[in-house]
Amino acid sequence: MRKPNVVILGAGYGGLMTTVRLQKLIGVNEANITLVNKHDYHYETTWLHEASAGTLHHDRVRYPIRDVIDRNKVKFVQATVTKIVPDEKKVLLADGELTYDYLVIALGFESETFGIKGLKEYAFSIANVDAARQIREHIEYQFATYNAEEDKKPERLTIVVGGAGFTGIEFLGELANRMPELCREYDIDPHKVRIICVEAAPTALPGFDPELVEYAVSQLERKGVEFKIGTAIKECTPDGIIVAKGDDVEEIKAGTVIWAAGVRGSRVIEESGFEAARARVKVDPYLRVPGHEDIFVVGDCSLVIDEETNRPYPPTAQIAMQEGQLCAKNLAVLIRGQGELEPFKPDIKGTVCSLGHDDAIGVVFGKKLWGTKASFMKKVIDNRALYLIGGSSLVMKKGKFKFF
Ligand code: FAD
Ligand code: NAD
Repeated sequence: MRKPNVVILGAGYGGLMTTVRLQKLIGVNEANITLVNKHDYHYETTWLHEASAGTLHHDRVRYPIRDVIDRNKVKFVQATVTKIVPDEKKVLLADGELTYDYLVIALGFESETFGIKGLKEYAFSIANVDAARQIREHIEYQFATYNAEEDKKPERLTIVVGGAGFTGIEFLGELANRMPELCREYDIDPHKVRIICVEAAPTALPGFDPELVEYAVSQLERKGVEFKIGTAIKECTPDGIIVAKGDDVEEIKAGTVIWAAGVRGSRVIEESGFEAARARVKVDPYLRVPGHEDIFVVGDCSLVIDEETNRPYPPTAQIAMQEGQLCAKNLAVLIRGQGELEPFKPDIKGTVCSLGHDDAIGVVFGKKLWGTKASFMKKVIDNRALYLIGGSSLVMKKGKFKFF
């Protein structure tokens, strides 16, 4: 009998989890599994703010995909996916194509700029390893150039972060911690540095526990971060940003602008003509594209509604990994033609937001945490993600063991 071709697109949390679970569930002779990813490494997206601020080297954030896949069962193809053609069961790559019987789309997120002028051209976003490295190096370049110029431009030492969601706050925590060292390294008076966070909503971390939000904001302010709350970025220019609070419009000159104010699914979703909201496909209970029972979507390209709130679950690594685990189980059922498909039921254990390596806030199993306890918990969560994909050997290689 012909073995079905299972093609998994993307080796982030969702795609890699699907792959490592599926390789455990099925035998060599049951299916051909192909994993496609742009790079030959996986990166911990949830650590990218650290690489961007320069508090963690970018090589610490990534590891070779070959370290966690069983090459007897999984063929790895390093390629960029450009489009899916469901009617022909084909995946188009930048330099070739693949055919599938079952497809898993796990291509992750892209920055959502909401059409705001100048963001694509002049702002950075914390999107992948290359982007993180670029952000770190750009900030260092600005600091080095400031001192090299006779006609000093103070805006070179101004860094604007757009959005005080979890990404913005986590990045600010790292950046504020790095600043003293960076100032020493580049001979900069720390008083000349400005780190400004601009948030459109009436509070930082909208929707999160107000007491913990207050703690986070005051800890960051203590380290020199200025918050402009209830203020929206309207435009990004080569010289900085234009913001508005009600009718008041202000220009903030800045050498570095980081846009951390929202995400959307991969452009491949839209290129392929799937019905989607911000490139996220509202999947059926089994994580499949409605009308295409051979295509699963996991991670940030999928949209699952929380029945309690009637709103989509936020795109998180926690959900991407749980979806990957279920997707592997459901694929095994289909490959064998035995058993029943299981519906996806997320098990949200909580949220922890770091404020640098030594501080954090969070709600875990309904309990509020802050300070070193929360920071410890964050590292446990980071190590657990490694464990779930690569077992204890991956934790030993890449884990975080410096707790305070
Ligand atoms: P990703 O992990 O983004 O992986 C997508 C993969 O697909 C990547 O390997 C990419 O290279 C590859 N790819 C993309 N396009 C193509 C293409 N065209 N062709 C081939 N390959 C492609 N969530 C939490 O739950 N907890 C956290 O603490 C947390 N912290 C975060 C911190 C930061 C700084 C950021 C930015 C996000 C954080 N998130 C967190 C959200 C979380 O990272 C995402 O929800 C998660 O990464 C989604 O997983 P995914 O598998 O869908 O995509
Ligand atoms: P987000 O959508 O959660 O937050 C974006 C923030 O930007 C919001 O507060 C929004 O009000 C603000 N904003 C939007 N437009 C703006 C504008 N024009 N000017 C100023 N502010 C504006 O996005 P995110 O923080 O990138 O998070 C993306 C996903 O990743 C979320 O699901 C989040 O839960 C997850 N995440 C989780 C963690 C964690 O668990 N520790 C860390 C990072 C990200």
